Amino acid sequence: MDKRILTKRKRIALVAHDHKKTDLIEWAVYNKTALAKHRLYATGTTGTLLEGALDQSVTKFLSGPLGGDQQIGAQIAEGKIDLLIFFWDPMEAQPHDPDVKALLRLSATYNIPVACNRATADFIFTSPLMQVDYEAVLPDYSSYTLRKL
Ligand code: PGA
Repeated sequence: MDKRILTKRKRIALVAHDHKKTDLIEWAVYNKTALAKHRLYATGTTGTLLEGALDQSVTKFLSGPLGGDQQIGAQIAEGKIDLLIFFWDPMEAQPHDPDVKALLRLSATYNIPVACNRATADFIFTSPLMQVDYEAVLPDYSSYTLRKL
């Protein structure tokens, strides 16, 4: 069984839709000390807001609707992101809805923890697994990749 190590110092991607940005920033400020132990990545606007609220640098991708969600998805597929905090807005249609769906799909495909709201983010951040190297099972897709066509 293939495994991937989510190291003690985790690579965390953060994304928030516009009406959820205040929520994410409040959550991030509350968890500032905990976040400082990890490396942060974000879509463009979310990243700029996070850098303004935390004394911590954030690796910023493009703005979500301009390709940032897809860039984070690609990082997940390449094993370069360990955890996703994605406060998506259930009350508003997004122009980049297919990208939102794709990002959530890749997170499930590669078995990374995902928080889509504050309660889940709180549960993840209070987990002892945040402080240690964690072996995540990498699902076996060989029956798909080796399929006979
Ligand atoms: P943003 O993108 O951080 O650039 O606003 C978030 C999103 O809507 O995916």
